[in-house]
This record gives sequence, structure tokens and C-alpha cells, in this order.
Amino acid sequence: MGLRLYDTLQRETVDFEPLDPGRVRIYTCGPTVHDFAHIGNLRTFLFEDLLRRVLKRRGYDVVQVMNLTDVDDKIIGKAVETGVSIGEYTDPYKRAFFDDLAAMRIDPAEEYPAATDHIDAMVGLIERLRDNGHTYTTDDGSIYFRISTFPDYGKLSRVDLSEMRDGARVDSDEYDKESPKDFALWKAAKPDEQAWDTALGRGRPGWHIECSAMSMEYLGESFDIHTGGVDNVFPHHENEIAQSEAATGKPFVRYWIHAEHLIVDGQKMAKSLGNFYTLRDLLDRGYRPRVIRYLLLSVHYRSQLNFTFAGLDQAAAALERLADFADRLEQLPAGDSPNDELAGRTQQAATEFDTALDDDLNSSRALAAVFEWVRDVNRALDSGQATTADRDQLGGFLKSFDSIYDVLTPDPGEAEIGADIEALIAAREAARKAGDYARADAIREELAGRGVVLEDTAQGVRWKKV
Ligand code: AMP
Ligand code: ZN
Repeated sequence: MGLRLYDTLQRETVDFEPLDPGRVRIYTCGPTVHDFAHIGNLRTFLFEDLLRRVLKRRGYDVVQVMNLTDVDDKIIGKAVETGVSIGEYTDPYKRAFFDDLAAMRIDPAEEYPAATDHIDAMVGLIERLRDNGHTYTTDDGSIYFRISTFPDYGKLSRVDLSEMRDGARVDSDEYDKESPKDFALWKAAKPDEQAWDTALGRGRPGWHIECSAMSMEYLGESFDIHTGGVDNVFPHHENEIAQSEAATGKPFVRYWIHAEHLIVDGQKMAKSLGNFYTLRDLLDRGYRPRVIRYLLLSVHYRSQLNFTFAGLDQAAAALERLADFADRLEQLPAGDSPNDELAGRTQQAATEFDTALDDDLNSSRALAAVFEWVRDVNRALDSGQATTADRDQLGGFLKSFDSIYDVLTPDPGEAEIGADIEALIAAREAARKAGDYARADAIREELAGRGVVLEDTAQGVRWKKV
């Protein structure tokens, strides 16, 4: 059986088959670069990395486009507030986003179009919708999509339109639209705001039209997969379907795939709750990027991921187990007759691993197959039943696992520090944050005994070997 994926539109797991044999075209809603990405965003970007890697493993060429939303109400507001241009405001966050992707070992997409570089394509698409009778213009010059002209509206989210009362806010884009269900395609410029002079007048695009215009520009009017977090289903992706299909008369996307959210300690992550973390926040506490990558990939993407520091420590311990196992494979006793039973066990684990990933990217099951195999091989090693004659087979599967999960090679700067030391540093940080200074000091002493000295700096804890 081949790859199966859960399609939000059909509400079921279906066989995956791209429009062009051998080639998969994917559009992923990227970051709004008004701030640093948080670990919830990264969870979604890591799910997309997993999807990409599994498709490639299945032999497909992948063309993935991820947009950068670098103009919206918030960005314009912040740029005005700080007295800089939109570009000046978003540039550092764009760079930080790419740094985060690299730290998380997320394979780069083929294209990262920025909204502000594609205003013409958006204007062209709005003109097409206007010519087809799907829009109206309000007194201030803003242009809205009239959803009553698109009978399929609601097919993705199954939103009940009759429940959307007049005056209900669906979107932050509000001027004087006819119906609360309608959404802005183009917003007329307000005084002092950065805007574009176009055939539609002076203004800027709405958020939804960005993704319709850029996805179709790079991937064609119909393509294979569109992804995002569950919060994108409505209204963003519902509106993308309406705009794209109303303009082209063709089906827009074959498979809609959405990642569930990351929550923290059982609650929605929010700055006001003090449970909001960026990647930098976790790195400052001494956690390694690959430990974070592993944790965020370890839960099936359609289940909520409850982030906790205990979970991060467990992820560090899991990677330590894999590192110990890899070391043992390096030090196998010499032998020249392969262990057939062990080879069979490895083959079984490899099949379970691929079957789990093919089943809608079931990551937790794929990892369980790996860890059960590690346990069994460790037993064989304990009883002297594995030798250098088994190395290729055993090492081959470990490598195959890592071509997807990519967590075994050390992070930059990690080479000299073991995961056990890392776990101690993290445990000390946790104790310190919890006010347990006695424990924090005890761990500091233990680390000193192992030749690792800690320094608390304004940027967080730093260690050095002495
Ligand atoms: P944004 O920068 O807000 O446009 O979001 C970028 C991506 O992260 C989108 O695909 C969102 O759906 C996704 N996202 C936002 N919040 C979370 C969260 N708490 N957990 C997982 N994904 C999220
Ligand atoms: Zn989007």
C-alpha cells in the first residue's frame, strides 16, 4: 500500500496520488514575519518537513512553496508605531525565521515568495474576480469578495453560514462590507500607511488573496497539497478556495492537510499566560535544537502536542539512548557470519517504520517501531549475538530512520558535550526557575566535577569545558 493522507476537505484518510506522476506540488502557509516564530509555528513547519521527507523517500520530486506574509494590519501598525518602513520592520524577523529553519534542520522549500514582491499577481487575480462578477467596491475604495456568488463556500470548514450573524467579525479586515461573511481582497490605504499604487487604486492586498495568488503563480491553477495549522482552515483556506476556484473555474487543491496545535502544560500558548516560547527561549535554557526537533516531531501531527519541560527532558533521554546504541554499533565484536534472526528483526522494524509513516505520517508509531527494535538489538548485543557481520544491516536501518528524523548528528558546538551533560544543564535551569536553589547548586557542583563550568549570562546559561 502507498502513502495515505488525511484530507480535511473529504474528512477522511485517502490514497495519495499527485496530478503529475512522480512530482508533488505543495503550498505551505508560511510565517507572518511580525515577530519571532513560536514553538507552535515550528511544530507546523516540522510536520511539513516530515511530509516532504516522506514524499521524497517515496520517490517523488517535491516542489514546495512557502510564503512569507510580510504585510498585514499588525505589521503596518508596528511599522507606523516604530517609524520604519514595512521592509525595515520585517527584515530581522525574516532572517530569524531562516535561522530557526536551519537550526530545526527543516529542509528548505524550493521557493519562499514574499507577499510584498507579488502585489502585481494579487492585483491581477482581483481584477479577474472583478471581471467575473465576484467582487464589489465600497465607498472608501476597498474591494470585497461577495461570497453569495460562490455556492461552494464553506465546503472545507463546513462552517454554518446561517450562524454567522450580521455584525459578527470573521476577519480583522472590516470596512463597510455588505455582509459579515464577505472578506476583503483589497484594502484602500488609510492616511500615513505604506501602500501600493495599482490599477485597483492606492492600497494593499488582504491576507487571503496573497496565498491564492502566490500559490497559483508558482504551482499552477490546480496543485496537489496545501498545508497549514488547523487555525488556517477557517477563514483563511476557505477564502483561498473561494478566490481561486471562482477565478479559474478549476479545482484549486487536491489534498488539504492541517496540523493540530501545540499547547503548553495543557493550555493554549499565550504571552499573557507566561507560557509562550520561541526557539530562542528554549535554546537559552540550554536545550539543544535537535532535542526540540525530536520532541516536536514525535507526536502525530493530527493530535495536539502538549509541550512540557519534562517532555523535553524525555526527548533528550530518547536521543541519548539512540546515541548509546549508535556507539555500540561502532564497537561491535568481530564476526563473519551474519545473524539471520537479527536481520529478520531489522527488516520487520523497517517495514513497520515505513508502514506507520505511510499511514498519514503516524510518527509516534514509527518511533515506537524504532525503539522496540533498539531494545531487541541491545539484547542481542548483551548476549554477544551481534557482530561486525551485522553492522551494515543494523547501521542501514538506523541511517534510514535518521534520513527522516535527522536527530543523530550533533548540533553545532555540541561535539564536545554529551547529552547527559546537556540534560543536567537543563535540569539545573529548571530547578533554578522553580526556585529550588539547593538542587540547582548541587547540579552545578556535579557538572563542575565532570569538568563543565556554567556561566549565567544575560543571554541565558553558557557552559565551558575546563
Ligand atoms: P502565522 O505566523 O501566525 O501565520 O503562523 C504560521 C503557521 O503556524 C501557520 O500554519 C499556523 O497555522 C501555525 N500555527 C499557529 N499557531 C500554532 C500552534 N499553537 N501550534 C501549531 N501551529 C500553529
Ligand atoms: Zn496562507
